[in-house]
Amino acid sequence: MTTPPFSPLIDLADGHAIPQLGLGVYKVEDATAARLVEGAIDAGYRHVDTAKLYFNEAGVGAGVRASGLPREEIFVTTKVWNDDQGYDETLRAFDTSLGLLGMDYVDLYLIHWPAPKQGRYLDTWRALETLKRDGRARSIGVSNFTVAHLENLLAQSTETPVINQVELQPWLQQRELRDFDASRGIVTEAWSPLGRGRVLGDPTLEAIAEKHGRSSAQVVLRWHVQQGLVVIPKSNSLDRIRENSRVFDFELDAADLAAIAALETGERTGSDPDLVG
Ligand code: NAD
Repeated sequence: MTTPPFSPLIDLADGHAIPQLGLGVYKVEDATAARLVEGAIDAGYRHVDTAKLYFNEAGVGAGVRASGLPREEIFVTTKVWNDDQGYDETLRAFDTSLGLLGMDYVDLYLIHWPAPKQGRYLDTWRALETLKRDGRARSIGVSNFTVAHLENLLAQSTETPVINQVELQPWLQQRELRDFDASRGIVTEAWSPLGRGRVLGDPTLEAIAEKHGRSSAQVVLRWHVQQGLVVIPKSNSLDRIRENSRVFDFELDAADLAAIAALETGERTGSDPDLVG
């Protein structure tokens, strides 16, 4: 029998809600995505984060169906890729994504990167507003938007993004962006929350992990959860996928949180949003 959901829900400004911890599937092969997503749902996950760029939307959709749970119990995010920015292009890309997923709506559609040199994210956002009005994207948001990109978008739009999905891990804590998002009612979601695995050997994290009898990965994800962030760790291993979900039964104390706060270096494991696209 499928494990009940472990994750609390975070309210979005549009009235919907998102499970706080979900499964990221970047670099998961389409052929294995179905098995992994089905296994994650069986382990209590109810939220999957994919993108056109990941070339596994078909596998994700198959995994959701294979779980046997009603579609509305799983929160599915996908994203419009940089090559498809623009109003008509985005509507077409959305149709393709929905077809690959084999679904008639997504829970969340995101602009993957602002791609500021293209200068098309406002047109792209208009398309997302249309998809929301039509009910085919229940919620709409952005990814990799800086304060400057968001200020520009908000000044020229009626809909406010409900989510900003950005790189966020102990080396890159994004405090200014998080404050800005919060001031506009935007939920911040953390991608590469484990720094693609690179932050996990940090001695401070290892010491906190030992103190709590947990892994470094669980400490880092618990830190995200206690900051009120949405978080989408990825693994190709079902054992690690299960491990990453067991973060709702212990708590970091003030000393742990202060020690992790001091790990900020500003170092990215991914790309700079002003330079992509
Ligand atoms: P991540 O920080 O989740 O790290 C994943 C890697 O960490 C794994 O490949 C594995 O090597 C290691 N790992 C995972 N669990 C572990 C554990 N319990 N113990 C030890 N090692 C472990 O990196 P990610 O995949 O880059 O990011 C997560 C998700 O965020 C992606 O899958 C994707 O859905 C999303 N994402 C979005 C963007 C964007 O531009 N919007 C960019 C990158 C990633």
